[in-house]
Amino acid sequence: MEVVDKSKVYFVGAGPGDPELITLKGYRILQQADVVIYAGSLINPELLNYCKPEAECHDSAYLHLQQIIQLMVDGIHNDKLVVRLQTGDLSLYGSVREQGEELAKQEIGFRCIAGVSSFLGAAAELGAEYTVPEVSQSLIITRMAGRTPTPELESLELFARHQTSMAIFLSVKGIAAVVDKLVTGGYPTDTPVSVVYKATWPDCQVVKGTLADIARKVTDAGIQKTALILVGRFLGEEYHYSKLYDAEFCHEYR
Ligand code: SAH
Repeated sequence: MEVVDKSKVYFVGAGPGDPELITLKGYRILQQADVVIYAGSLINPELLNYCKPEAECHDSAYLHLQQIIQLMVDGIHNDKLVVRLQTGDLSLYGSVREQGEELAKQEIGFRCIAGVSSFLGAAAELGAEYTVPEVSQSLIITRMAGRTPTPELESLELFARHQTSMAIFLSVKGIAAVVDKLVTGGYPTDTPVSVVYKATWPDCQVVKGTLADIARKVTDAGIQKTALILVGRFLGEEYHYSKLYDAEFCHEYR
């Protein structure tokens, strides 16, 4: 088991919601934490039950970047184990980069502990596979441009040309605009779509439809946040068995 290095901030991926979907490594670090800064709007508060009773827990929803950094710096200077707990995995829309840059200015390093991203939790919730032989072999993870713009070459319209599987983050509020862009880009209107709200939480909700009717269904369900828009024929009826477990295929790759 890795020895914890208290001179560094530990960024821990909390998983999509179910408190059992944090990694064992993340869990162990949380158990030892003295200071925890968690993203309150998305993190399941039950995860904080893993912490010591005397651990200081701060909800970052009420803090701006400099305040978050200050808490980290103060903790490290007082020889405390500082954990930054963020939803899903850190590598997607996690703003780890900017926090890391600010810490570097104070000569503090960091370590990242991977988490289960919500797009994985959502697929598990549906029992679906993003890669179906001969139907789709790629997954595009993206978001619609919002307050944070997306580069021009990454517009939903351009991605839609591939007609492959897509997991769209941070965009459910604009579902009607998302659908417009996907259809303009090239997906047929009968392409299946599932919107998964709070994947792996007890109050998870799944809305299924096609590009023709999903916007209305999602609006009727009142879903405005914490949801993923999953698009593509991987959600449809068509499938083909893979060659991997074909009796005629050699075992080397299994
Ligand atoms: N790093 C996170 C994403 C952070 S951005 C991850 O790996 O999942 C926040 C967005 O993630 C939300 O707007 C929503 O689109 C998605 N999200 C996070 N948790 C979710 C969940 N349990 N179910 C569905 N979508 C979720």
